[in-house]
Amino acid sequence: MLLDLTRYRQPQSSFARTFQPEDVVGEGDAYEIVAPCELAFEVYKDKDRFRLEGRVKSELELLCSRCLEAFRLPVDTAFDLRYLPSSEAASASDHKVPDDDLETSYYREGQIDLNELMREQFYLALPMKPLCRIDCRGLCVQCGTNLNSGSCGCAPAWEDPRLAPLRELRQTHES
Ligand SMILES: [Zn+2]
Ligand SMILES: [Zn+2]
Repeated sequence: MLLDLTRYRQPQSSFARTFQPEDVVGEGDAYEIVAPCELAFEVYKDKDRFRLEGRVKSELELLCSRCLEAFRLPVDTAFDLRYLPSSEAASASDHKVPDDDLETSYYREGQIDLNELMREQFYLALPMKPLCRIDCRGLCVQCGTNLNSGSCGCAPAWEDPRLAPLRELRQTHES
């Protein structure tokens, strides 16, 4: 959805709306949106500058990087974003952007793309290494059994190379 900035004439206004996943989803996203997206924010207007401060809440489905099973990640993230007209983007270097921590974006034709805003927040909320649970045991490297849901008869094939010298030491000691 595009937010029409021309409708915001007051220094401060509120916006709240819930979007269905299919209205927000984008192509090539690394996640699936599996719950309605609750978006709420305040719009602060200063001439042609806008600041959007609020939260977005939803639930994403990701693949576990260890066992490859899908799992759900609840997301509830706060944002505080500054928007300047795109005409200022070109002169951004010599234009004095206020010296604070707000992230600056540019809007075009008096509109801000709220789907883009939400997807950006989801993207920022993604873990570097998605895990279905912190102690996910992953898949057996030999037979592919999901070790969270069962065990297999394979002998442990993998040995920590750091332990090999220790084992040799023990063998020479025993012989
Ligand atoms: Zn897992
Ligand atoms: Zn196995």
